[in-house]
Amino acid sequence: MDTNEIFNYMKTGATWLAGGGLVYFTSIVGLGVASMCSERIKSNEQLERVIKEESEKLNLKNVIGIFNKNNPEISAREYTKNICGIRIGGNYATRCDVKHELYHIYKHRPFQEKTNKKKEQILNWMKYWFLEEPQAMVYEVFEIKL
Ligand SMILES: [Zn+2]
Repeated sequence: MDTNEIFNYMKTGATWLAGGGLVYFTSIVGLGVASMCSERIKSNEQLERVIKEESEKLNLKNVIGIFNKNNPEISAREYTKNICGIRIGGNYATRCDVKHELYHIYKHRPFQEKTNKKKEQILNWMKYWFLEEPQAMVYEVFEIKL
């Protein structure tokens, strides 16, 4: 490998890093702004109202909301094929979080099942972090369905 070749690899690597950094930075800023402007959820009634309003945008039905002020948890569950739930709590839960979880329900069902196989675990991990999470983040901020 000559110097030129090494330099080209480095240039390509740096471009990818810069691109990734830009995407990452944009998402952090976007998420920060969105969650600052987003309605804070403080009760189960409010959570149910927000779920109803946001579900309509995704044409989702039968999503149950469970709010727990003392448990800072944000997650989506699939109870049966047709009934899902969003558990949300703590002091910082927002409408954005509801939109994020609804998008997982809309787009990523059936949810991944736990597996003992190493290869499947790695693939599931990659699918979650490189596909499902970014999609849900873009939706919660921009309401774009990827
Ligand atoms: Zn998520």
